[in-house]
Amino acid sequence: MGASEGRAGAAGKDGDGRLGRRALLVGGAAAAVGSAVLARQELSRLWWRLPGVDRPRVAGAVDFRGARWVGASPANYRRADRPDDYRVDRVVVHVTQGGYASAVKVFQDPAHGAAAHYIVREDGQVTQLIRELDVAFHAGDREYNERSVGIEHEGFVTDASSFTDAMYTASARLTAAVCGRYGMPVDREHIIGHVEVPGTDHTDPGPHWDWDRYLELVRREARRPRRGGAA
Ligand SMILES: [Zn+2]
Repeated sequence: MGASEGRAGAAGKDGDGRLGRRALLVGGAAAAVGSAVLARQELSRLWWRLPGVDRPRVAGAVDFRGARWVGASPANYRRADRPDDYRVDRVVVHVTQGGYASAVKVFQDPAHGAAAHYIVREDGQVTQLIRELDVAFHAGDREYNERSVGIEHEGFVTDASSFTDAMYTASARLTAAVCGRYGMPVDREHIIGHVEVPGTDHTDPGPHWDWDRYLELVRREARRPRRGGAA
């Protein structure tokens, strides 16, 4: 979990060049699909390639198929248009230091000042609290918040039994989908622990998190035929 951070001044980084590139991407995707109706359906599914103004913001929509939506307090994230305004090139792995229900509760508390995009429960249930479009305050560092997707895992850094098979599998599936979505390599440079965020005093996910096993699972999921990170 992360400390709170300032939320002022979300300076856009878009230039004309980027608009041109985006228009090309969208045009290309549309041309590849036969009819206008199909194109629209396909485009709404490929939201991360759309210019911000056209991105669907449907209440309760999730970015990972099968995730349950429980919205975090808007005080715990900043609305954005990623990956257009900020490039997404990191997954940050966290451990909640508590149960799933209490983590959800604090992320819904506007006074908490922090929340992650996702929580993976001990039984593998994935809950999304913040759209990947938006900047969640989970890393305790503004730049890392802007560039990353934060995934919490129910449990305690000191308790190896927190990290169940079901949790590893579900989390790896989620991380593989995120990596696929943003063209992120599956490696330890791009998939990091909160402990590795510069300047942090947090230790999660801790010594019991099995990085070798996790990366192997993510690679395996990434090789599977696309079942959709997009929901
Ligand atoms: Zn953390």
